[in-house]
Amino acid sequence: MKKDDCIFCKIANGEIPSKSLYEDDNFRVILDLGPATKGHALILPKEHYANLYELPENTAAEAMKLAKTMAGKMTAKLHADGFNLVQNNGEAAGQTVMHFHLHLIPRYENDGQHILWKPGTASSEELEDIQRQITE
Ligand code: 5GP
Ligand code: ZN
Repeated sequence: MKKDDCIFCKIANGEIPSKSLYEDDNFRVILDLGPATKGHALILPKEHYANLYELPENTAAEAMKLAKTMAGKMTAKLHADGFNLVQNNGEAAGQTVMHFHLHLIPRYENDGQHILWKPGTASSEELEDIQRQITE
């Protein structure tokens, strides 16, 4: 399904132009309009899924395969020094466009970006408690 008021549905399906890097029946890869680094791109499924929770398993698998291919190609062509895959779900996690997308972010030595988190601390008991919460 496409969602009428979703900008990424329109971009993915070619109704709004974008700088595309790749397209097939199910996905389009576009350059991000507000790039974190040179080459920052987004993998968009053509169908509307709001987030990872809604994404069918096979689409998730295909998106990750495509991410691997794009990461290799972009790293080689742009002479990147590293690569981040970022994927936000929900406002609390920084998602601003509610159509699933996977960020492809080439990294360069001293590119001035801070995509990683500030490490916290946790005791062994706290970790065990969380482990129980998730696995039991
Ligand atoms: P989020 O914060 O939801 O994970 O990421 C949304 C991303 O989409 C941002 O990096 C933002 O720059 C990008 N973006 C938002 N609107 C557009 C648009 O119309 N075209 C393109 N190419 N990127 C967009
Ligand atoms: Zn959509």
